[in-house]
Amino acid sequence: MNHILFNQLIECVKSASPNEACGLLFGDVKEIDYKGEYQYQYVGKKFNCIESNQKSPVAFLMSNLEELNRIFHDAFQKDKLRLISIFHSHPGGTYPSEIDFSNMRFLDNCGNKAFKNQIWAIMNARNMKLNGYILYNNEFMQIKIQKLKHY
Ligand SMILES: [Zn+2]
Repeated sequence: MNHILFNQLIECVKSASPNEACGLLFGDVKEIDYKGEYQYQYVGKKFNCIESNQKSPVAFLMSNLEELNRIFHDAFQKDKLRLISIFHSHPGGTYPSEIDFSNMRFLDNCGNKAFKNQIWAIMNARNMKLNGYILYNNEFMQIKIQKLKHY
């Protein structure tokens, strides 16, 4: 993601403080042939910060279907982007909680393709450090997040 998008994540976390922030990141997924090994590059292009006063971002997402539908409609129809990451913050640390893990598994197996293989991006609200995690074929992996000046 570029630094403008990264700053939007930070602003989202700051405005939600002391509660956990959450939001959705839209963009493209590119397949890259790296010396015969396929890699996936998720390119973030648009971020929606979502106001939440619930502990779980997924519970929030499920209970605000109207707003969610509008956000998805805009991203898909207007901007031709797909959902690439579910973002939220933790008061300290970036590692997924037990609830996060069960939500990751739930979304990956819920049957809705739009929610499969999402990056769970978690920001530490204390130092704004960002890490990303993904379930791929039911395997849990940490991904590399690159902050770019330009694409
Ligand atoms: Zn969490």
